[in-house]
Amino acid sequence: MCDSISLRPHHLLCLQNFVGEGYSGGFTTGMAGVQKRLMADPSARIRLKEGTDQICAGCPNRAGDACTSGKPDRYDKEVLERTGLACGDCLTWQEALEKALPLNRDCLPEICGDCQWFSLCDSLKKA
Ligand code: SF4
Repeated sequence: MCDSISLRPHHLLCLQNFVGEGYSGGFTTGMAGVQKRLMADPSARIRLKEGTDQICAGCPNRAGDACTSGKPDRYDKEVLERTGLACGDCLTWQEALEKALPLNRDCLPEICGDCQWFSLCDSLKKA
């Protein structure tokens, strides 16, 4: 069994670009906590999962195990297809970054260009 942080696949991208903006105070606190933990320890393990994860716990869009927005499922699917990863995979944060970093650089607009936070991530990419 993998002792790990659960993440829905597209949060591999969000975590790399998060700068403190989010859906609510609870959301930003949760995202910042996970980001801090992973950045401090690249050997920390993550497990990919369908549906909501521990970052979603503080989000106002969360309804039980579901997200009321239709967009995240589409983002997750894109990330899985483009990385070859699958829900259930357990890997270190470093290994996850190696898989997801090329997406961040090259195809962010195609994956999540309609996310309300996209302009923030896109400006970081160009910096
Ligand atoms: S919008 Fe949906 S997928 Fe994104 S953090 Fe909130 S509940 Fe999770």
